[in-house]
Amino acid sequence: MEEVKCYIPKTLKEALEIKAAHDVIPLAGGSDLMVAHKKTIGLVPEFEKPVMIIRNLSELKGISVNDKGECVIGAGCTAAEIAADERCPWHLRQAASRMGAIGLRNSATVAGNIANASPKGDTPGPLYLLDARVRIASLRGEREEKVSDFIVKFREIDLKQDELITQIIVPLSEDDFDYIFWHKVGTRKANAISKITVSQAIRFADDGKTVADYRLSATATGAMTNRSRNVENLLIGKEICDKTIEDVVNGFDAVISPRAMPEFRREATRRMIRRFLSEAARRPQNKVIDTYDDYHVTGQPEPRECRHKKGACHG
Ligand SMILES: Cc1cc2nc3c(=O)[nH]c(=O)nc-3n(C[C@H](O)[C@H](O)[C@H](O)COP(=O)(O)OP(=O)(O)OC[C@H]3O[C@@H](n4cnc5c(N)ncnc54)[C@H](O)[C@@H]3O)c2cc1C
Repeated sequence: MEEVKCYIPKTLKEALEIKAAHDVIPLAGGSDLMVAHKKTIGLVPEFEKPVMIIRNLSELKGISVNDKGECVIGAGCTAAEIAADERCPWHLRQAASRMGAIGLRNSATVAGNIANASPKGDTPGPLYLLDARVRIASLRGEREEKVSDFIVKFREIDLKQDELITQIIVPLSEDDFDYIFWHKVGTRKANAISKITVSQAIRFADDGKTVADYRLSATATGAMTNRSRNVENLLIGKEICDKTIEDVVNGFDAVISPRAMPEFRREATRRMIRRFLSEAARRPQNKVIDTYDDYHVTGQPEPRECRHKKGACHG
């Protein structure tokens, strides 16, 4: 039987030393790597390089708030840990709580989700929206980079051979906005890779009408997560009206480039933008604007009921 060469460091320092000396693949939850390297049932996955298991490193764990009020999330925090921790921003909690099903959420890490650099990954949408940064360490020192810069393109990240992601720092939360929105369209409530997911947030100026800040990001709408400050600026400093809504709708439509089912994805995106902005303009009591189901987003029938045993998926 073939063997996988494996390093199991006990500390982050040891992990960085291994990374500096050897060309290894860091394995956190393994939910992407084990699928990508699987062979057939009963056979050991085939890795082209040695693997370094980092899932037990305590330095990559924990969620806290720093002295600037930013949420600091250990790279090795799982989707389940993020979903359950109210110190994590609302948009990120929503995304984490809808990743895969329970078993996956207990192993899939946030750094793995970012490093996978998939346009359908659930956490990059909120992380782009909230200007989150990754902290990266090597024996040479530490550096920080915005998640939206760190993901360079489809399946490519700005990580050097000797580096590891250690933290994700999120400077903004729902408290910075008057109204918030997150909606994932999937074929089921759980274990459904995103067909399209839209995150939005808006803050009004003191006059209650002028938009002081507006943010919009979408996943599964192109080769990478989409966010455009130029499009958001079409609304900032203005009031919400039919014209400014359509400016944003058309501006974002020009930014996204969905390949599969493009008209479905474009129309669902338009509907979610219109819905959020027109509702926010009414200044409802509830901060969260997303009360409707997939049918109203897509114009398509609702997703089929999950075929698994009731309760198994917890979607
Ligand atoms: C059945 C199933 C359902 C899924 N459903 C969803 C879903 O609904 N939504 C979604 O977004 N994803 C989904 N995924 C994808 C996957 O679970 C996520 O991308 C997960 O977050 C990856 O994290 P991990 O810890 O398992 O990463 P791993 O598989 O361990 O690693 C993934 C990549 O990240 C790198 N990496 C990990 N940690 C670090 C670090 N600290 N520093 C540097 N590099 C690092 C690894 O080297 C590797 O390249 C699903 C996967 C499966 C198998």
